[in-house]
Amino acid sequence: MLVRASLACTSCLADVEWEVRGVAEEAEAHCSCPACGAQRDLILSPEQALRLRIGGRLASDGWPLPPDVWPL
Ligand SMILES: [Zn+2]
Repeated sequence: MLVRASLACTSCLADVEWEVRGVAEEAEAHCSCPACGAQRDLILSPEQALRLRIGGRLASDGWPLPPDVWPL
């Protein structure tokens, strides 16, 4: 079974909410924690940004998962 963990807050380990910002060449995932308010930005490669925009998921370490583990 594949694990699709959502991105966890580095402060309280709660699930964070995130959104992709910026153009594909300079994209980042802006993450905000609804539990403690912590925020951080993950710099994304163009490929990673594209994956997230079309429905990819972030792994627990903050990197987008490959397409074969996306929920379809
Ligand atoms: Zn938190």
